[in-house]
Amino acid sequence: MNTGISRRTMIKGMAAMGGAAGLAMMAGCSSGSGKGEGASSSSAIYSGVAKGMRGDVTAYVSFDGKEITEILVDAPDDSPVIKDAAIESVVERVIAQQSIEVDAVSGATMTSMGILGAVTDALESAGADIKAFKKGSDAPTKAERETESCDILVIGSGMAGMSAAMQVALHSDKKVIVLEKQAYPGGSTRVCGGGIWTVGGLANEIIGQDSTKEEYISFMQGRSGAAELNTDLMGNIYDISGEAFSDLFNWGLPVSLNSWNLGHPDSKLPCIDSTANINCDWETGNSGLADFLAKIAAANGVDVRLNSKVTDLVVEDGSIVGANVEDLESTYRIDAKKTIIATGGFTRNADLVAKYAPDYTSAFPFTGSGGTGDGHVMAEKLGAPIIGSGMMGLSGINPSLGYYGPIGGAVWAAQMTVNAEGERFMDKKFYGDTLALLVEQTNSCGYGIYDASNEIVDRLEAGVEAGVVAKYDNLDDLASGQGIDADALKKQAESADIKSAPFYCIQRKPLFIGSIPGIKVDEHCRVVNESGEEIGNLYAAGEVMYANVFDGTYPASGSGVGTSCYTGAISARDALAALA
Ligand SMILES: Cc1cc2nc3c(=O)[nH]c(=O)nc-3n(C[C@H](O)[C@H](O)[C@H](O)COP(=O)(O)OP(=O)(O)OC[C@H]3O[C@@H](n4cnc5c(N)ncnc54)[C@H](O)[C@@H]3O)c2cc1C
Repeated sequence: MNTGISRRTMIKGMAAMGGAAGLAMMAGCSSGSGKGEGASSSSAIYSGVAKGMRGDVTAYVSFDGKEITEILVDAPDDSPVIKDAAIESVVERVIAQQSIEVDAVSGATMTSMGILGAVTDALESAGADIKAFKKGSDAPTKAERETESCDILVIGSGMAGMSAAMQVALHSDKKVIVLEKQAYPGGSTRVCGGGIWTVGGLANEIIGQDSTKEEYISFMQGRSGAAELNTDLMGNIYDISGEAFSDLFNWGLPVSLNSWNLGHPDSKLPCIDSTANINCDWETGNSGLADFLAKIAAANGVDVRLNSKVTDLVVEDGSIVGANVEDLESTYRIDAKKTIIATGGFTRNADLVAKYAPDYTSAFPFTGSGGTGDGHVMAEKLGAPIIGSGMMGLSGINPSLGYYGPIGGAVWAAQMTVNAEGERFMDKKFYGDTLALLVEQTNSCGYGIYDASNEIVDRLEAGVEAGVVAKYDNLDDLASGQGIDADALKKQAESADIKSAPFYCIQRKPLFIGSIPGIKVDEHCRVVNESGEEIGNLYAAGEVMYANVFDGTYPASGSGVGTSCYTGAISARDALAALA
């Protein structure tokens, strides 16, 4: 971006103070910087802007006419945890490689691309030869380092992986390592709403609501249609849930027992809001739940390694004996007596969505960005069956706003939602079932309609400003603007008492919060092959195996995080018993 003479003059003026001092004085820069070996006082500073995940990213680049010597990045709208990881790594790589084509940071792709775009823009302002900085990613080949070993290897640091690791730390002296491919812990657990279902134990004594094992199993079966579920595993989940949930208390998760609801109106499954008392804000990327789990794991000596991706499992005589790992600098192997796959779902892998959930290809992910189905692929390679159908999700605005926050959350306040034919197809449906309904509609879209009497008009106006809410003077204009049958729309509006202009419309699109098809396991979460025989030393826990206990749709609030917590615990307990 050409920042204009006055701005550039100002920037150059600051550069005269010396590269680092000038950069440090840039107004509003709260984020990290990187500094090259050759930073020189003769560098001038140029600014550039590009789009990040949620807003503009500005890069202040110190450039001496030949080399980038220092970069400072300001990305005020992007999530702190995610942007911090991206800024640190991308800036370091750009300076080290003198390239604007370095790899994006896993889990922070949009912020990474924003930083690279802003640096490019700044270099253009500097009149630099951009081609010279387009070297492709020429990161040095990673060194292979010595093989390590542990008793239990956990792949993935979401609720399932951390729950498994904590069981090992609490109940044994076995060595456990958690590998997380992203630069921060948590996966979908980081972005989730924090509802956790639980039965039995202290929580239910206090809230006075419970569900028998039979009720739990029969409710889940009822929600799963004709699918054959693993009822033995469900029994084990039920049995461990009170204790595993109490462990969360004992570790200090400040769960509010005043803040709970039934996971589904037809169930007796209590769902407790684990984020009621902790700082958890999707808008800013703060995740009380994921950060709490990481903190507790660290306090209990669990070795959690970020930026550490398992590339494949190591197989010997049909059993798993470890995994190959790639981190930022090196590749290595970890020998493990037991391995737990807790890699989450595959919502961010379009090929796997097309393969295992072909009816859902029009939906977009609003999930942790590590959900690329790595565990599913590992299991496929071993010949382990992937079972189940359907996806977890609801409706949202777009992959950035989803259904959270002042604008995204406006989807919940629609006075009515119609399809292109003007029919109210989502009325009185459990929110978890709306994903499947939406993908069946014309354009995979529901149209949320609001009028001027709506109490969130201020938020709708903010949405208009942001370009995601449409505003009309009358319903005929709304119908033609959105492609909805006008007569049907007006009839429905009358019955819903929608009559005060102006009228607003939000397109409600199908959004994933998770996937269901997953690795087949036995009642102890041991991975099995096509014949139902155990694949030695291998477990699967969490979203990667949900299909064993529910199918077709998101059955109830809390059934994701809860199932991940309890299956993580089951797999770890079984692994420990086998190693005893
Ligand atoms: C917006 C949203 C709201 C939700 N709200 C709720 C709710 O309120 N209640 C509820 O019960 N459920 C909710 N869910 C669903 C729930 O959050 C998830 O199903 C659950 O957190 C999954 O936990 P997990 O540990 O199995 O997977 P994740 O939390 O996704 O963790 C898997 C981890 O594995 C890592 N990984 C993947 N591959 C590799 C590899 N090769 N090497 C190393 N690491 C790897 C990933 O990066 C990730 O960090 C929500 C989901 C979303 C997206």
